Amino acid sequence: MNVFRGIAEFKAWRSKLPSGVSIGFVPTMGALHEGHAALLAKSTEDSDITILSIFVNPTQFGPTEDLSRYPRTLEEDLALARRLRVDAVLIPEVTDVYPDGYSTTVEESEVSKPLCGVFRPGHFTGVATIVLKLFLWVKPHKAYFGLKDAQQFFVIQKMTQDLDLDVGLCGVETVREPSGLALSSRNRYLTEEQREDIAPKIYKNLLTLKESLLSKSDLGTLLAETTTRLQEIGFLVQYLEVRALPDLRLASDADLKQADLLIAFAGYLGKTRLIDNVILDRGKFASR
Ligand code: AMP
Repeated sequence: MNVFRGIAEFKAWRSKLPSGVSIGFVPTMGALHEGHAALLAKSTEDSDITILSIFVNPTQFGPTEDLSRYPRTLEEDLALARRLRVDAVLIPEVTDVYPDGYSTTVEESEVSKPLCGVFRPGHFTGVATIVLKLFLWVKPHKAYFGLKDAQQFFVIQKMTQDLDLDVGLCGVETVREPSGLALSSRNRYLTEEQREDIAPKIYKNLLTLKESLLSKSDLGTLLAETTTRLQEIGFLVQYLEVRALPDLRLASDADLKQADLLIAFAGYLGKTRLIDNVILDRGKFASR
């Protein structure tokens, strides 16, 4: 496995790959777990060459967020990548990505605005900018993103369409613990009780809400009831919303009958911010 810590060496290696080989790309911030592994496994299944990037991108963290304490587990990450037969790992320096005087960003201005866009201003501009920069270096044919971060996936999809980037995007199902808790690098901040007894209730409530949406029609009441239940369990709820795919406009009662829907949650459990979602897929989403 090739490990590149400098962008110049990576670019030299990339430029020598024959044009006939297909390249799959998995961008991450490291602290890899089975969720990341699912993306890498899909890429190695689909493509001749799989490239993983590990970069804790400072511009997608807000001033009060967890950039400095974000987990960094490089040796374990590289061992996992080797086991999964990744071909190359790109680990750029912050100065490679944002050299002195850097002043260009990419802002998607619709899909990025609701949900996490309200609570993390600038986050998706940081994400879109780093993903575009990585796409320009890696030049992948396909790139893999987790649907755990569903809004991120739809923002990247919109950017890819708007800028006519020649990259096929693949959204990979959320990998969960047996309890239903979505795997996340941030789960390690949870206490044992939070992780085992409380956090798994997010997914349980989202699934119950999804079933209710299929059989009833009063979206406002259902959302209010589920929000109250999650608050009673101990979450500081930032949002619980139902949005239509892929543009993430607010869903109406009429949408419940036909649209592909994202049921999305974000909230704090103690000091840890957790997000999760379920997608109500009527087929249009799957065949996108
Ligand atoms: P991160 O390292 O948190 O930036 O995540 C890198 C990629 O892994 C993103 O596309 C995430 O959506 C994806 N990912 C993170 N957690 C999961 C999970 N539990 N299941 C599937 N994909 C995930």
